Amino acid sequence: MGTSYRFVDFLVRRCETEDRKAVCVTSLPGACASAGFLPSDCGAASPWLTTGEQVTDWMRHHTRDTGHLRFERTTRDQVLMEPPGGIPEGCTDTLPKGWTP
Ligand SMILES: [Zn+2]
Repeated sequence: MGTSYRFVDFLVRRCETEDRKAVCVTSLPGACASAGFLPSDCGAASPWLTTGEQVTDWMRHHTRDTGHLRFERTTRDQVLMEPPGGIPEGCTDTLPKGWTP
C-alpha cells in the first residue's frame, strides 16, 4: 500500500534529461498479401538519442537504405514532483518514510 500525498501541492519540475527516437511506420505489404493478411509497418526504431538532429540523421540513413518515408517521432523527458519547500536534503528520487510537508 502506497503513501498518499493527496493534499500536498507538489510542483512538477522538468529535469534536463530529454531524448527522442523515431520508428519507421511505413506500411509494407504483408508476406502473404494474396492470402488476405493486412500490411504491417516496418517497425525499425532508432535508439533513444539526445538531439533532434541525431534522429533526423537516423531517418535519413533508414530512408537511403530502404526507401521508407513515413516515421513516428517520440520525445520523452523526466520530471520531479517537488513538494512545498523543496525536495528534502539528501533525497533524489524518493521521499523519506513518514515525510510530511
Ligand atoms: Zn522502414
